Amino acid sequence: MSLLLLLLGLAAPPQDVDLVVRNGTVVAMDPGRRVIAGAAIAVDRGAILAVGPEADVVSRYHGRDLLDAAGGIVIPGLINAHGHAPMVLFRGIADDLKLMDWLQKYIFPAEAKNVTADFVKAGTRLAALEMLRSGTTTFVDMYYFEDQVAEAAKEAGIRTVAGSTFIDFPAPDNKTFVEAEAYAERFFKRWAGDPLVVAAAAPHSAYLCKPEQLKAVRALADRFSAPILIHVSESPDEQKQVREKYGRTPTEHLRDLGFLRKGVLFAHGIWLSPSDRAIVKENGVGVAHCPESNMKLSSGAAPVRDMLAEGIRLGLGTDGAASNNDLDMFEEMLAAALLAKHATGDPTAAPAPAVLEMATLGGARALGMEDRLGSLEVGKRADIVVVGLDAPRLHPLYDPVSHLVYAAKGADVRHVVVEGHVVMRDRKLLTLHEAAVIAEADRLRGQVISTLAH
Ligand SMILES: [Zn+2]
Repeated sequence: MSLLLLLLGLAAPPQDVDLVVRNGTVVAMDPGRRVIAGAAIAVDRGAILAVGPEADVVSRYHGRDLLDAAGGIVIPGLINAHGHAPMVLFRGIADDLKLMDWLQKYIFPAEAKNVTADFVKAGTRLAALEMLRSGTTTFVDMYYFEDQVAEAAKEAGIRTVAGSTFIDFPAPDNKTFVEAEAYAERFFKRWAGDPLVVAAAAPHSAYLCKPEQLKAVRALADRFSAPILIHVSESPDEQKQVREKYGRTPTEHLRDLGFLRKGVLFAHGIWLSPSDRAIVKENGVGVAHCPESNMKLSSGAAPVRDMLAEGIRLGLGTDGAASNNDLDMFEEMLAAALLAKHATGDPTAAPAPAVLEMATLGGARALGMEDRLGSLEVGKRADIVVVGLDAPRLHPLYDPVSHLVYAAKGADVRHVVVEGHVVMRDRKLLTLHEAAVIAEADRLRGQVISTLAH
């Protein structure tokens, strides 16, 4: 009987599943950090069912759809841990300025005159196009009209942790804190349980939100188990402002308000002191490192080597396109590796495997979502990116992780799968009408220019 069962088992036809990705080198980012040549991945109902040598996977699973990696490198979808997606529509309007000048004289006024629900939706479509094309499958967002960010993300088939903004001045979407609270509550309810959208709260910073506002946001987020996204320790000016008002660092201030726990994500964290970092670590708070924005605005170099050594939940983000000026996470990985080495005088700082981790599993940990995202492992959501090796730049290939960080570009991405759905196949976006999205962005350029002239 048992022999019969065994024979039946051997003869059993492979199980039908939604998708099999085959013929690639998988960089799994699993606990063993396996790199598997000639590998395949089986996907069903949005989740990963198997990862391993192709012969083994295809003997057990038959994909109703098949994605040929064509010998390319298969990685977990990249997680852009900090940004402001609709700001792609302000790409290049004001460069080469100090952070506070840039914000107060250009960005905030331009936003006040231009940002509407439709503007946000058009901008997010363009950003989603750019991010999917360059291998990002999850983006963390802090902006206005976040409902439209979420709607556009869903349309594009990209995953988002979308943060509804709280800021202590009349914002384009909500004119008062009470309005922002009501908006966020509706927003949390609307997106609860969505497979692609996680609704978050995004108080701008400790310098642009009052202590009682931060406490209220904390309480609201607790009611809905929502993540909180906040800018922390981005500039020396911010450190000074918070110290003058409260006599503490921004991190100490947030701790004393009872604000910190897992699911809080600090953007930047450049000026975190060793004792701030101990608070961050102890409370399970994540940090999103944004090297290109930090360099462009001369904000400083985040203590990446230290944060890695300390085991802080560290992700990587592009920040908004107005201070980057693109959303290519491959470029961001390169910048993270180079900036850490340049800032410390230590070429062993931020080695390639650690940087790739920041862009994948590290981002998931920073969000407190490492049980679902960040690696190619059985049971995780199927967010999968195939990097093509057609560019001369990627040959010869000794170490896939080295190429991913130091030689690959976003344009090398060939296929993208989010939540088990193929959203880009052979560099063709299947979810958005690319020409129409770009034409709409170009049309809005005229509107932005006319508002700046007055
Ligand atoms: Zn930012």
